[in-house]
Amino acid sequence: MATNNDIWVFIEQADGKIADVSLELLAKAQELARPLNGRVCGLLCGHRVEALAESVIHHGADRVLLADHPELAMYRTLPYARVATTLARERRPAIFLLGATPLGRDLAPRVASALRVGLTADCTDLQIGDYESKKEQRLYPHVLYQIRPAFGGNVIATIVNPKTRPQMATVREGVMRRRAPDSSRQGIVETIEPMFDARDLVLRVLSRETRESKVNLKGAPVIVSGGAGVGSKEKFDLLRELAYLLGGEVGASRAAVDAGLISREHQVGQTGVTVRPRLYIAAGISGAVQHRAGMSESAKIIAINTDPHAPIFQIAHYKIVGDVAEVIPMMIRALREKAK
Ligand code: FAD
Repeated sequence: MATNNDIWVFIEQADGKIADVSLELLAKAQELARPLNGRVCGLLCGHRVEALAESVIHHGADRVLLADHPELAMYRTLPYARVATTLARERRPAIFLLGATPLGRDLAPRVASALRVGLTADCTDLQIGDYESKKEQRLYPHVLYQIRPAFGGNVIATIVNPKTRPQMATVREGVMRRRAPDSSRQGIVETIEPMFDARDLVLRVLSRETRESKVNLKGAPVIVSGGAGVGSKEKFDLLRELAYLLGGEVGASRAAVDAGLISREHQVGQTGVTVRPRLYIAAGISGAVQHRAGMSESAKIIAINTDPHAPIFQIAHYKIVGDVAEVIPMMIRALREKAK
């Protein structure tokens, strides 16, 4: 079968809830489908997940490929990879997108390797454009630009796979904007009968334990974030107090996490969480490109740093040159005064 212009999104779900990143990818896929004149297709795998198909359509899919089977009840690499690979081989979509979640990071390379196609992990943007190969003196129209930081974040690379299909990429949660569901959208739900090889089913999941993260950086309207410049766990407590007064969460740079000042679930940035709060306070954070990748779209940024030339000041709306240990208590005092 010839390649078509369809864009597939793997719909990650657990306990009857679709992962946010899948909904974000559906919105992005709609945008990418326009220049390609293609359809958006959600690949929904699981057991007793039919009820989610409608939501997939409302969030942007024109078609849902529904693989509902007891063997797909809990994620296991081989059965899921079998379904995705078999279908992609048969239908030959132009693009296949997955979330860069633990599941997506496990599944995507399996599928890409079985299909012998390229895969770009952790993209921060996706676009459609032409690619001219000077070597071949040939123009490849409408390829997927897979954009991500590379070489330690020092360059933003645009990667293309002009010759193989599907063009595969994973994207981290929070990078693309999701759209509000449109309940008037209509689409087709196509039921797939998965076929497994006995070897796909050798692994049995006996039980599963999940722990909900208590930190909700993505949904926080205000984030008070600390870097290595905060210096100690005790001073991080000041940031916690300020965040509490502002009704927000505490974030951190990787250097602060690596120094053991705070746990990793608080990390903002390229290898942490991507956030877009109304207010982001960066305290004792230099503003390395990998940190900025996760917070530069905050509506308002206040930076506090002793170094007037710190890169964070380049993107800050309000710049405070000063010591965290002095500035944060002043902010706390001012807020407490105001609350009286
Ligand atoms: P530093 O660079 O050490 O900066 C500390 C800052 O605090 C300085 O600007 C200093 O002037 C200021 N300061 C010192 N004392 C005070 C004080 N008393 N009061 C006020 N200011 C003070 N980083 C992330 O944050 N998130 C990521 O997701 C991430 N991913 C990465 C991925 C890769 C592949 C790589 C290579 C790096 C990644 N990094 C990430 C690390 C990143 O490059 C930086 O090293 C890190 O962000 C630096 O953290 P920092 O600004 O807290 O520390």
